Amino acid sequence: MPDPIKISCSRLPGVMLCPPSHLVAGIPIDSSGEASQVGSAAHAAMRVVVEDSLDHLPDLYEFANLHGVEDVSDLFFVAYRCMKDWKEYGEDLRVLAIEELFEGELVCASTGQIIKLSGHPDIVAEELLDDDPALVIFDWKTGYLDTDCFHQMMGYAVLAMRRWPQYNRVILIVSRPRFNRVDISVEFSRDALDRWQEELFLRLTRESFCPSDDACKYCPAAMSCEAKHATIRSASLDLVEQSEMEISDLERMARSYDKRKMVGRALEQWDKTFKEALQAAGSVSTGDGTELYLESSESESPMLCEAALPVLYESLGVEGAENLFLLLLDHLKIPKKDLSDIIGARSARGEKGANIKACFERLSELGAVRTSRRRLIKTRKETQDD
Ligand code: SF4
Repeated sequence: MPDPIKISCSRLPGVMLCPPSHLVAGIPIDSSGEASQVGSAAHAAMRVVVEDSLDHLPDLYEFANLHGVEDVSDLFFVAYRCMKDWKEYGEDLRVLAIEELFEGELVCASTGQIIKLSGHPDIVAEELLDDDPALVIFDWKTGYLDTDCFHQMMGYAVLAMRRWPQYNRVILIVSRPRFNRVDISVEFSRDALDRWQEELFLRLTRESFCPSDDACKYCPAAMSCEAKHATIRSASLDLVEQSEMEISDLERMARSYDKRKMVGRALEQWDKTFKEALQAAGSVSTGDGTELYLESSESESPMLCEAALPVLYESLGVEGAENLFLLLLDHLKIPKKDLSDIIGARSARGEKGANIKACFERLSELGAVRTSRRRLIKTRKETQDD
């Protein structure tokens, strides 16, 4: 009988991509970064909102202090979006569990392999809209990188459906405040969850490491994993060779794209480590008569908040918010996502998308939208020719 495998749901996306990653002893995930602290504070605030059935956010400064958040405006931004999504979807739910630990054993019928699965879904709830209600797993993903959490949510669903056997279907809802998006899955039946478990057991029979940007970026073994390091070494040489070709082989470059992301991430990590060390050392010699040191630069953007109004009236020689607005008219820009949020909040249910679209179309026709273009490399499924 194979030894049981312990996996937490948060590791499932990585395990599905690189099955042996569960074997490698990990380094605990660093939660000291600013985005991580903002995420913890926003989650703690939302826990209070759900527990106390609040229709407003609690005092976020208190949560900022508790979680060491310095950029309070970022916490306001993230928590506001979490609250907006919860107001939109939470009102149709009856909450059954908040950040509870769920644990269970999954057993493979053919091999006897046992997986000891555990996880803390943010919210488990019951849908209120139907005679045959579905169970709902609701999670806030407050980071920038955790873009694919499908398998984590499926792990939560399997565990929660065991706790409440009366439900036949489960729906997964992921709020992504940083992307102003909510992802809602189709409904999964118990059969669909069983098929997902079979796929998980099948993947775990694969023994070869599969380094890729998606698999390695969150893997706790990433600092010490030889498979990943070997991939980055060979990718670095390959990229240098490709960049020196006069006309590069486009398909070869496309095949290297994922590896290029891994090299890029390794360089980012190198910069971060080096800057931290340089900060501590003050300066360091390069050995050729020069030295490196850190210099901070800051840019300031005055806020048009209520407290600033008297100062702006006096400094600009105007009186009243309307005159100030007219004076600043050609200098003000509204971030598209903020304007969309405001229109959305003032729209009737079901009209939000159409109102936002209509507003932007009309502004574009008037030449009142400034467009800047960037070119990003994106991925999508290949279209097959018949
Ligand atoms: S670092 Fe990458 S290759 Fe290594 S175990 Fe983790 S996911 Fe697999």
